[in-house]
Amino acid sequence: MGYTKIDGYNHPQERAADIAQKDKDRALAAAAPDLAARVIALENGIRALHRPVDIEPSDTICSECSWQHRAGRFFGKVVAYPCPTIALLDEEGKA
Ligand SMILES: [Zn+2]
Repeated sequence: MGYTKIDGYNHPQERAADIAQKDKDRALAAAAPDLAARVIALENGIRALHRPVDIEPSDTICSECSWQHRAGRFFGKVVAYPCPTIALLDEEGKA
């Protein structure tokens, strides 16, 4: 599966999540600058681990939560993206 890179993103869901994240970051930074820096760093780190990956035929899975063979192929356990971890971050941001 191949997506054309848009604005440097590998996947449309990754781009949408990043735009939403930046809105949340701005709101937090205005309210509590010190806390914002820590939270932003943590969320960025988590999202960098739990990235969307397209697999055949048309599913998008989480790269971190799914098992990947050393050769690169996902097998055994595949977790749909957004995975529970990303869903939690997305849900928390709406509160
Ligand atoms: Zn995940």
